[in-house]
Amino acid sequence: MRTQIKDILVIPMTSEGLHFIGDIYIRDGIIEAVGSGIKAPGPVDEVVNGQGKVVIPGLVNAHTHLSMTLMRNYKDTCANLQDWLSEIFPIEDRLTEEDIYWGSMTGLAELVRSGCTSFADMYFKQWMTAQACKEAGVRGFLSLTLFGDEAETEDRLAIERLDEAIKGVDILRKDIAVHSIYTCTAGSYRLAAEWAKEHGSIVNTHLSETKKEMDDCLAQHGCLPAQWLEDTGFFDVPCYTAHGVWLQDSELDILRRHDVAVVHNPSSNCKLASGIAPVRHFMDSGLTIALGTDGASSNNNLSMLKEMRLVAMISTVSTLRVDALTPYKVLEMATLNGAKALRADDKIGTIEPGKDADLAILDMDRVNTCPVNDIFSALVFSLNEGNVSSVYVKGRKLMEDGQLLTINEAEVIRETRRCWKRLCEE
Ligand SMILES: [Zn+2]
Repeated sequence: MRTQIKDILVIPMTSEGLHFIGDIYIRDGIIEAVGSGIKAPGPVDEVVNGQGKVVIPGLVNAHTHLSMTLMRNYKDTCANLQDWLSEIFPIEDRLTEEDIYWGSMTGLAELVRSGCTSFADMYFKQWMTAQACKEAGVRGFLSLTLFGDEAETEDRLAIERLDEAIKGVDILRKDIAVHSIYTCTAGSYRLAAEWAKEHGSIVNTHLSETKKEMDDCLAQHGCLPAQWLEDTGFFDVPCYTAHGVWLQDSELDILRRHDVAVVHNPSSNCKLASGIAPVRHFMDSGLTIALGTDGASSNNNLSMLKEMRLVAMISTVSTLRVDALTPYKVLEMATLNGAKALRADDKIGTIEPGKDADLAILDMDRVNTCPVNDIFSALVFSLNEGNVSSVYVKGRKLMEDGQLLTINEAEVIRETRRCWKRLCEE
């Protein structure tokens, strides 16, 4: 099966500022050719007219907790992360497999509608999220998540169940997460690193999200969080971390030494009053900085478009430099850098031959993107979910002309409401 996307403005994200009107040929889910005035590599089965539209690599949400859509707008008045978690953890303990499935499906619908084709998930009962991903066709990097000490965490892992759920599905991958240094022990971090080595997985964790986390680590262990993690051996396997708001310069050196990426979550950091991550400084320090939404309960949505706009705004106002983060750099955080953080840039993150056809086609023929004077600026500052027209993951069409093809939205909304009602009444 060969598809041609014709006469479209291509943003390949392979070189700063590069964009051109051309064609993309997709064969059996893989990008076969892309360029201006290129010939078809062979017979074409389907032609998609791209006139007036823009195609970007599918956005990569490099840190979220998908099923937390269930807790969207719940307990929004908590003073900080710790108070909020004390409200959230008791509900999470009661989540059933069905809750995880419908919470995930709601999240997947929201991801696709905002042009996102990949997400990295840290949560429990991941085999149910895997099931939802298989049906919806969205690419998932699903982390089995350790919580508490080694004994506490054993029954949450169920590696076999996730292995079974992702078997033969090449858009799903099993990773291993440890929740945080304030909820888990050094033993849990060591266990995660051992399992990752054994299973060829990569690891991730929340790191330096709040000042309290940093201060408590200094008080209890006499060192900064990244130093403490390095001492556990957690960074000896491929790793990425979420947040990093309070990382100090000595910690940036540690992360760079181990090639640990940081996933920035601007909405969550604002909403939970965690602070402002100095993203420009992190980049200048040589770190890979990706972008994520965090869970819908601390955001309160899952739109990477909103994250892109927010990180651009925050970087400008916090540095008093308009050029602190150019629109191209912001889009790079949401595409190629996400792929790099997840060690998946051999497959996704750019539009170039040999990569999987994970694409978002945007309709710019709307009032909020009229006129387009600078395409990168328009994508970061003016775009909204209404511009997202069609979405592909490995060549499979998940949305066409604004209609979801693999998810029954009405059913998802109905079932998610039912699950949440039951959780509230229990
Ligand atoms: Zn998180």
